Amino acid sequence: MADERTPQRSASSGPRKKRPFQRRKVCRFCADKQVSIDYKDPRTLRYFVSERGKIIPRRISGNCSKHQREITEAIKRARNIALLPIAGSHATA
Ligand SMILES: [Zn+2]
Repeated sequence: MADERTPQRSASSGPRKKRPFQRRKVCRFCADKQVSIDYKDPRTLRYFVSERGKIIPRRISGNCSKHQREITEAIKRARNIALLPIAGSHATA
């Protein structure tokens, strides 16, 4: 029986608590300066775009106005080069 389990390294995936919109006091980008806003990085931008392709408003995303603007710009650029959907993209089934 080779039942190997990593002892205490299970902090990778899996939902912990049900918290519908955890409020952040500081915006992600102010808090973590390693995270850069890049229009070529749809994974980051996706976080600020709803399923319908709308940009998440600042009071929900928790970004500060400066970074929210950068996000908005980045999303618009990403849309232009088709990294992000302009309107809903539920075609991927
Ligand atoms: Zn910020």
